Amino acid sequence: MPLHFSCTMCGHCCRGLRIPLNLSEAIDWLSDGGETQLLCEAIPWPAEPAVDNLLAAYKFQRSFPALSGTLPLRVIVTVVAAFDGPCPHLKSDLRCGAYDRRPRVCRIYPAEINPFIALRPAGKGCPPEAWDNRYPVLEASGRYVDRTLTADIEALRATDIRDVEAKQILSSVLGVRAAALANEGFVVVSPGRETMTRAIALAIDKVEGLDGNVSIVSWTLISNRCSTRDTLASVDAQAAAPEALPDGQTYLGFDASRDD
Ligand code: SF4
Ligand code: SF4
Repeated sequence: MPLHFSCTMCGHCCRGLRIPLNLSEAIDWLSDGGETQLLCEAIPWPAEPAVDNLLAAYKFQRSFPALSGTLPLRVIVTVVAAFDGPCPHLKSDLRCGAYDRRPRVCRIYPAEINPFIALRPAGKGCPPEAWDNRYPVLEASGRYVDRTLTADIEALRATDIRDVEAKQILSSVLGVRAAALANEGFVVVSPGRETMTRAIALAIDKVEGLDGNVSIVSWTLISNRCSTRDTLASVDAQAAAPEALPDGQTYLGFDASRDD
């Protein structure tokens, strides 16, 4: 069934968020006085998947290679704008104060970036009246209809892939070597505005001269689950509990309950 949609300007999607940014958007966000964080997650990658595994290919493109002990990994680092409460750009009349230069993720909401995630109104912050059948069709048969929207989604995916090596260097510049297991959570790194600004500029500068030759280094996999750490240790991966993280890094688990 087609999904109809029109934004009601309720402002829910502009509060208490972590908005994924590409690196040039992150520089703009920081220069506007905003705060950013890194979200780090890792996927065990013991062998290359089949060539027709499109989901694996998507994950591969968005990630860089690493090791944990002897276990091969793919690490995904996401730079996010982070704020509790209203976005610093949200005006009192609930309009965006940076509308013309708002991040691409804001432009496409409530559409999904990930082509393997179906759009579900129940998973979005938009009120029920925003999905009324009187409004234009947003999505039909799994495809977004509006050409500007599809172009923005394509551009988002392209910059996500383009920035991978620079984010690999960025994590190295910031001394980040810990990631949560994908699907369990994230390691959240909060370096502060000035440090992040310098680190992103350095990473962009360095990546241009490296021509794809970024060293593969060892990462620690953080989990709040004893069973996960035991499983990782059994395959010679380096695993640790969230308490092992250094200052400035925290663990954000999808499941707050621990099994230890
Ligand atoms: S930048 Fe604008 S659209 Fe994006 S969260 Fe902030 S107020 Fe909302
Ligand atoms: S939550 Fe949905 S309806 Fe509300 S402002 Fe954001 S996009 Fe519009």
